[in-house]
Amino acid sequence: MKKSIEPTAICEFSAMRRPMTLQEAICEAERCLLCEDAPCSKGCPAGTDPGRFIRQIKFRNFKGAARTIRNNNILGSTCAHVCPTDKTCARACSAKGLTTPIDIAGLQRFAIAYGRENGLKPLEAPSVDGQAVAVIGAGPAGLACAAELARQGHKVTVFEKDPVPGGVPRWNIPDFRLPVEEVAADCAQLADLGVEIRCGFTVDTPEKVNEIMDKFTAVVVATGLNEAFALPLFDGAPNVFDYIAWLRRAKTDRERFASDVAGKRVAIIGGGSVAMDAAVTARALGAARVTLVSLEHLGELPADLEEIELGHLMDVVFRDGAMITGVEKYEGGHIVALTGTEIEWIEPGKFVPANARPVLHTQFSLATDFVVLAIGTRPVFAHLFSALPTWDKKCFAPAGEDRPWSAAGKLFAVGDVVNRGTMAVQAVGEGKKTAQAVHAFIAGGAK
Ligand code: SF4
Repeated sequence: MKKSIEPTAICEFSAMRRPMTLQEAICEAERCLLCEDAPCSKGCPAGTDPGRFIRQIKFRNFKGAARTIRNNNILGSTCAHVCPTDKTCARACSAKGLTTPIDIAGLQRFAIAYGRENGLKPLEAPSVDGQAVAVIGAGPAGLACAAELARQGHKVTVFEKDPVPGGVPRWNIPDFRLPVEEVAADCAQLADLGVEIRCGFTVDTPEKVNEIMDKFTAVVVATGLNEAFALPLFDGAPNVFDYIAWLRRAKTDRERFASDVAGKRVAIIGGGSVAMDAAVTARALGAARVTLVSLEHLGELPADLEEIELGHLMDVVFRDGAMITGVEKYEGGHIVALTGTEIEWIEPGKFVPANARPVLHTQFSLATDFVVLAIGTRPVFAHLFSALPTWDKKCFAPAGEDRPWSAAGKLFAVGDVVNRGTMAVQAVGEGKKTAQAVHAFIAGGAK
């Protein structure tokens, strides 16, 4: 059996995510300017308050820093691993005017690890004097909402279709970016707060929806975007995966999957973060050649810069500004070659498939053993909640609509199912805000 490889770049990348040593953390915190207005804190969508926890580290109150993070962001460790800080807190950091921004995520990982190793007390479940609230979905938005509601004294039950909670961070983000233990440690804090998480429970029928709507005073739909888009072009070919299935198999069945993928050619279609994760995962499993085909040109890719850099480090081949147009060849039902063409945008700056047109005489052929589609996701089942809108069979809030978002009366929706998919840290922030809206609804007399 061929063994999976763990290329050096992956190991180096994982090493970058390890907590800093005490000395490294002190040195980094010493660089903080202790800005009075702490723009870093204003830049955190989850309200983690880096200005405060970095100050605490700087003044050697390490456990206090861990407490600040935990109290403000129930998924503090998850976010410290996957948050693109160059778009949030670090982007706002005043220190970048002098040298480089403070390594806020690194300090966050340090403080959390310090708290764990040095007896930071677990969260305490408050006395329950509120109402029964159901949260459907145990991803970042649902978990943050559930934790905040529990803190307000409500009895919260989370229904989750998967065998363990965590949503996209748990199931779709590769271990080298986010170890499963970190997500598990964050999720364990929900139990400390008295939240019941019922895993393996899919809310997928009108009967289940009605039962939940009858039984609970308020219901929060946080089911996310859980079905990947397919392309009819590839229907029926057994060597075509969507990125969710691809990344899950790499997490749950790694050894066998690696023996299938090692030495093979993989074509990834898509240019976002999940496409990049799928591509780097393929290389980590031992794929000989991974080609990422994206409509967007390199400078337009929606993936985070760090992920693109890792793709380059892992020798992923970027076939950017291109699209797949068909299957060139099958062998035994398997796709073994694709055809594609380079594209140009009809209207500059509008990065959608309908705005792409082929460039004449640029057709190419791409030999492959696997095809992975990473071209977007949509919600399933959320439309069963009849008060949620069903336009396009999706449940997104109309553009520009304020969040938190309430469909009607006791029914609320939060996270990717409403906002079309965003950062985990944004989902945490929206989960907290939605909890406040649910609490206000209940305090207004809902029974
Ligand atoms: S913005 Fe940067 S320098 Fe200012 S308090 Fe935050 S981390 Fe420190």
